[in-house]
Amino acid sequence: MRDHQRLTLLTGVQVVGLTLSGFRCTGVEYVQDGEVVAVTAAKEVVLTAGAVDTPRLLMLSGIGDAEHLRQVGVDVVHDLPGVGGNLYEHVILSGLCFAPAEPLPPPNNNLEGAVAFWRSDAGLATPDLVFVAVQIPLVSPEVGAAYPPPAGGFTLAPALGGVRSSGRLALTGPAPDAPLDIQPNMLADPADVEALVRAVEIGFDLAGQPGFSKLIGSWAAPPRRLDRVAVEEFVRLSATPFMHPVGTCAMGTGPAAVVDGDLRVHGVDGLRIADASVMPTTTSGFTHAATVMIAERAAELLVG
Ligand SMILES: Cc1cc2nc3c(=O)[nH]c(=O)nc-3n(C[C@H](O)[C@H](O)[C@H](O)COP(=O)(O)OP(=O)(O)OC[C@H]3O[C@@H](n4cnc5c(N)ncnc54)[C@H](O)[C@@H]3O)c2cc1C
Repeated sequence: MRDHQRLTLLTGVQVVGLTLSGFRCTGVEYVQDGEVVAVTAAKEVVLTAGAVDTPRLLMLSGIGDAEHLRQVGVDVVHDLPGVGGNLYEHVILSGLCFAPAEPLPPPNNNLEGAVAFWRSDAGLATPDLVFVAVQIPLVSPEVGAAYPPPAGGFTLAPALGGVRSSGRLALTGPAPDAPLDIQPNMLADPADVEALVRAVEIGFDLAGQPGFSKLIGSWAAPPRRLDRVAVEEFVRLSATPFMHPVGTCAMGTGPAAVVDGDLRVHGVDGLRIADASVMPTTTSGFTHAATVMIAERAAELLVG
């Protein structure tokens, strides 16, 4: 496929913006060996830079919330307030960490082997929690300061897939390499805190099961079962982004929507998005498979 005469694959280049003629996207500009190169599209451009860089490229090109763009010195082409908003991120807790009863064998290349999906509330239609077994002592700096992790330890990390909190990302300036201001607003919704408190309590129950008794030598972080108040504090100290950002160019029809049902950017001709940024909300499981489905659908739309 790489040798196909209709495919040119460039690596080691950075796209720095879209070229636009009025409200039509005509191509992209990228930097190669320090030079800006423009390439034009005969039909359309498909952005696939992911949930962080796709909204960044739109905003750098003048497509985004007009007030925000003016504040950071970008000329406004098309006022599309939803760009960079609706940022969903799964939350993983860096803890519950245990010292093994016996030294563990060498880890595999991903440090993990199994995940368990669970419901924080039995009445939920689908699981909202994930437990990730990791063969290292995975603790946040704050948890590590409170409970020093054991060498050779392992972790049963509770995570929340069904998050309700959402945030946003924004430019800090008009340069392509200016840092982004990213605010995922994790734990902003009390329901997320409640679900993660349940997750920790379920994690304690799991660690107490006979199946783990041969594996666990001692509890380390935390060193014992905690009460409700201490569990909530533990959630706040251990909460970390799971690196599953989605939703920053959400599909829909309302004023906050960025793409339509055919992945076309509202109000801009010749421009589609095909990555995790178009998810209107997040998945309860991990995000890769859903992104592949979006890509498959994009391919059908383009061929169609
Ligand atoms: C460390 C890590 C572990 C993960 N583990 C899992 C997992 O186990 N299971 C799971 O389901 N999901 C996992 N995910 C999440 C999953 O990888 C993402 O949801 C998925 O890759 C999103 O796909 P995407 O196409 O939207 O973006 P990406 O896969 O991020 O692709 C975007 C691409 O665009 C390129 N790009 C960005 N900006 C520019 C630019 N300006 N110019 C040129 N190129 C650019 C990037 O280099 C990248 O190659 C993990 C993520 C991380 C970071």
